[in-house]
Amino acid sequence: VKASANEFDDDLQAQQTRSFDLQVKSNLEKLQEERKTLPVFSYRDELLRAVEKYQVLVIVGETGSGKTTQIPQYLHEAGYTKHGKIGCTQPRRVAAMSVAARVSQEMGVKLGHEVGYSIRFEDCTSEKTVMKYMTDGMLLREFLGEPDLASYSVLMVDEAHERTLSTDILFGLVKDIARFRPDFKLLISSATLDAKKFSDYFDYCPILYIPGRRHPVDIFYTKEPQADYLDAAIATALQIHVTEPSGDIMIFLTGQEEIEAAAEVLKQKTEGLGTKIGELIICPIFANLPTELQAKVFEPTPSGARKIVLATNIAETSLTIDGIKYVIDPGFCKMKSYNPRTGMESLQVTPISKASARQRAGRSGRTSPGKCFRLYTSYSYQHDFEDNTIPEIQRTNLANVVLTLKCLGIHDLLHFDFIDAPPTEGLIKALELLFALAALNKFGELTKVGRQMAEFPLDPKLSKMIVASGKYKCSDEVISIAAMLSVGNSVFLRPKNKQTYADNARMWFQTGNVGDHIALLNVYNEWKETNYSTEWCAENYIQARSMKRARDIREQLERLLGRVEIELISNPDDLTPIKKAIASGFFPHVASSMKNGRYRTIKYPQTAYIHPSSGLARESPSCVLYHEMVLTTREYMRCVTEIEAKWLLDVAPHYYQVKHVKNSGSKSSLAEEGGPNRTDNFLGSKTFHLPTRRLQ
Ligand code: ADP
Ligand code: MG
Repeated sequence: VKASANEFDDDLQAQQTRSFDLQVKSNLEKLQEERKTLPVFSYRDELLRAVEKYQVLVIVGETGSGKTTQIPQYLHEAGYTKHGKIGCTQPRRVAAMSVAARVSQEMGVKLGHEVGYSIRFEDCTSEKTVMKYMTDGMLLREFLGEPDLASYSVLMVDEAHERTLSTDILFGLVKDIARFRPDFKLLISSATLDAKKFSDYFDYCPILYIPGRRHPVDIFYTKEPQADYLDAAIATALQIHVTEPSGDIMIFLTGQEEIEAAAEVLKQKTEGLGTKIGELIICPIFANLPTELQAKVFEPTPSGARKIVLATNIAETSLTIDGIKYVIDPGFCKMKSYNPRTGMESLQVTPISKASARQRAGRSGRTSPGKCFRLYTSYSYQHDFEDNTIPEIQRTNLANVVLTLKCLGIHDLLHFDFIDAPPTEGLIKALELLFALAALNKFGELTKVGRQMAEFPLDPKLSKMIVASGKYKCSDEVISIAAMLSVGNSVFLRPKNKQTYADNARMWFQTGNVGDHIALLNVYNEWKETNYSTEWCAENYIQARSMKRARDIREQLERLLGRVEIELISNPDDLTPIKKAIASGFFPHVASSMKNGRYRTIKYPQTAYIHPSSGLARESPSCVLYHEMVLTTREYMRCVTEIEAKWLLDVAPHYYQVKHVKNSGSKSSLAEEGGPNRTDNFLGSKTFHLPTRRLQ
């Protein structure tokens, strides 16, 4: 079914007349017309014939050709939803939501009815749903309840080229299903041309190529390496805005914080440009962006104005935003990095691959010729950039997948049919961690704790912390903390001109130096006491939206607690059990104080510092536990709580021995056992008082 490459450039005039006609038609008719202009439309019949004939098919098509939004609709129209659902997986949550929203519009149905989406902590589907967009991670979880995916007639594993961990694992699982369910159809779709690898893996299945429309893109490099790519990106954007003809701009940045900072600077700088220069509409898009704001990025730009999209990697291939003519590519993305030797992971800003750079540039040439400004030198592109991004499975912590696979009864992980095998060392590390977490016994079999942990759609360290809270009789508090941790770093606001106020407000939740985890709990509890008041959030520089999300997540965690038969018990007066429960999951993330604010992780020594945003940044407690490690200018531990080193022997006897604990820190280690009991005087943490209102 190899379709010949077919050149079809837009006939502009025809398109203009067409769009003029369309204005009188209803919105739905308009969308139906638009559907027919997508490159994939010319391949509709060929595609349906191929699906009919073959069980497994690889589909390759340029970003924006209509794979994600159209193919499931074609299959639905052809009757594939009569005996089951069509599932379509996406590596990113925003893509799953926004594509489902688009498809429901095109079909003129309410989102959540015939077309729905499912992402972690958010299920927008119903009995009626026959087309389901979901994250790859969610489908992986569905296997736990439905190991043969019996309710699906077709599955499209989309964005296969992204090679996320969950997608790679899905490959192995769905390949198996295809073998014993002849009625099951499997589509693997990818935006890059290396489809042969997928085809080979799926028993040499056929490949269908959908040629896209591509316009020439001029690529510009900088002459010198840029000291600050954010500054350089903003300067380039402003220059384009002032000197280049109309057309929208897209800047690829590494994360929410950077995007928000850039948006702020751009806003300030364009205010001073005067009325002669057109309006610059700033549209951020990143994973945690609230749904209401996501739609804004797709709105057509009014004439005379220019849109500037500040995006993470998400806009590389997952989302297509029409009208982009200028791309600014600083050449970086944020990536999880993992050291399989030590099991340490951190978030790190990393140079992208050549393949990514090409995808980014391609975003500018979709509707007309474009320009791509690469903020790195041509030499650097040639010599420093890898050809392809390393698949996630080879650079991440595998504990979560190993736990899922164990729950599915797949024990022999070394012989699992991986498309690219993870390093054996990584698998062993994951097994070791799960053993230390008591999720597996010494034979590598799932324990009751492991089964309970697997019920929670969380990282095993977080789910262990929740399961342990049953034992420490503080599950009520611990699920609040887990929910707050799950909303990410978007709880505390820090507006530009009010930083001191915001920092003071934030420190108040830390009263008694209780640590960042307990501070999050304080925020949650106080908010709850105000009956979930939005005004209270504003007064305290707390992001109300994040709090609402935390509340949703908490409700789900509470339900799951019931499912694994852990009682909801509150113990607000004693912090020690809460901290011990946290330590039961996060014991691999413990560091002890050295000198001058420097810390060293206990088991596999590595230097780190407490992140300046932490309430304990100026306290330097002798032994701390952290939620995550971020690498910026230094290794920073983010979200930190003081613990006692000796607890580690209790909560993780298979991970720590006395020698680790003895060498760590001074006052709270076992070396001083018998000395003055530090809990009595440190941080006032024995009793826990809810701080009362304080900001006038
Ligand atoms: P592909 O999966 O091949 O990259 P898509 O099916 O995602 O392509 O996109 C096809 C078209 O639908 C594009 O022109 C894109 O702009 C449009 N589109 C997709 N999602 C949305 C959305 N949420 N809002 C508006 N337009 C969208
Ligand atoms: Mg797509």
